[in-house]
Amino acid sequence: MLTHLLVLVDGSAPSFCHYGHDRRITELMPLAVLERTVAFAHDRRLALTYVPGREELPPEYRAVMDNTAHAAIVPAGLAGRYPDAILVVDADGNDGSAGGAAGERRQFILRLPRHRLAAMADLVRDCLGRASRLNVYLGDIERYTAADIEEYGRQLELAAGYVAAVYRQGSLPEVNIFSDRMLLSAMNNCDAGVVHLTAAPDGKLYICPGFYYDGEQPAGSLEDGITLANRQLLTLANAPICSCCDAFHCKRCVYLNNKLTLEWNTPSREQCVLAHLERNAARLLLDRLGSVPPFSRLRAIPAVDYLDPFDQIPTRRLQP
Ligand code: SF4
Repeated sequence: MLTHLLVLVDGSAPSFCHYGHDRRITELMPLAVLERTVAFAHDRRLALTYVPGREELPPEYRAVMDNTAHAAIVPAGLAGRYPDAILVVDADGNDGSAGGAAGERRQFILRLPRHRLAAMADLVRDCLGRASRLNVYLGDIERYTAADIEEYGRQLELAAGYVAAVYRQGSLPEVNIFSDRMLLSAMNNCDAGVVHLTAAPDGKLYICPGFYYDGEQPAGSLEDGITLANRQLLTLANAPICSCCDAFHCKRCVYLNNKLTLEWNTPSREQCVLAHLERNAARLLLDRLGSVPPFSRLRAIPAVDYLDPFDQIPTRRLQP
């Protein structure tokens, strides 16, 4: 069921997830479109999350936004202007050291393009002291090579060491690439197009921001509502391999699926392998924290001997 609407108030807003774009010039959603978007969400009881750009918004925009309960995802440099927003640290930009007043803990998104992968563990370490929750999102996964995947495994190991040290000191910021799998007992994926849609500056609705930036067909409009055919194909119930996978934290990123397998609901090998590296890193971190509460109360994550569940298909077929 659709419950959330993301609103790209400025098309030049930095990416906060796996998708990427190179728009740097302010592309404000027209005010009238913003007003209609808010009314659209209100009529359907959808929770609103605004995504503004790096520039301060005109007061009339803030007035419309602040008129309704909402969440916001903003560049870390705007932390002071949006006291409750999730802050995006763009590892490719200048936001790395920004974000939040001294002593204040905020939710962060660290978006890491491929060429900054080798800095991941250090960036995670730098965010840990000021984060109540840190979400790490890899960019450019569609261009990952075997060497990048290996590097990601190394970075996870290093980052897990920093996270373990912080947890042992009694501070417990969640870090999505470790904590989510530790805490989940069933699939909890992105669910773009099923649970949330994105309203773009052009007044159209998209499965997620990545579909807008890539010039994909809209999923609907403010006038016509959702027009996406075969929306059920986005659901977990219609993904037979994902349905029996236990990388519960995996985003099952429809955007990457669409790019890499041309199927909304079929993940690429890259996504499966990266999610399993995270799953295994979470397992090892949990083992390391064995006697430290609250980790001692969490369910152990079983060992598996594969990184891509698709590799299991021929074996299972061969079993009597
Ligand atoms: S489909 Fe979801 S996980 Fe993938 S880029 Fe879009 S919002 Fe992010």
